[in-house]
Amino acid sequence: MTNEQNLEETILLKVEDTPPCPRCDGATLLLARFPYAWKNLREEDVLGFKEAVLCPGCHNREPAAAELLALFAVDDQVRPENMDVFDGLVASWVESVRQRTVDEEALSAEFAQWQRGDL
Ligand SMILES: [Zn+2]
Repeated sequence: MTNEQNLEETILLKVEDTPPCPRCDGATLLLARFPYAWKNLREEDVLGFKEAVLCPGCHNREPAAAELLALFAVDDQVRPENMDVFDGLVASWVESVRQRTVDEEALSAEFAQWQRGDL
């Protein structure tokens, strides 16, 4: 397995000393750092990282985040017994965050085109 493949599958999680929510400045429960690929101006694939936090106040209406929040609410701490459940929920949450980020960037690219009169 090459380094690149490893990188693409790695999601780093942090549950202690997570940064405050960028939206509401409240306490967050989880920080995920995940690989993220995009295209630069020359249409080359660039691989980097993005970070996302799980905020009980801001994310409880998003299905994948809500399930994860529910787990935290019950357990307070994630224990080895429910690690599989936790991993599964984290994976779907990160996937939803990744998807949303892509959509937002696609939208702002479209908006920039529209402003320049290309659309
Ligand atoms: Zn928040």
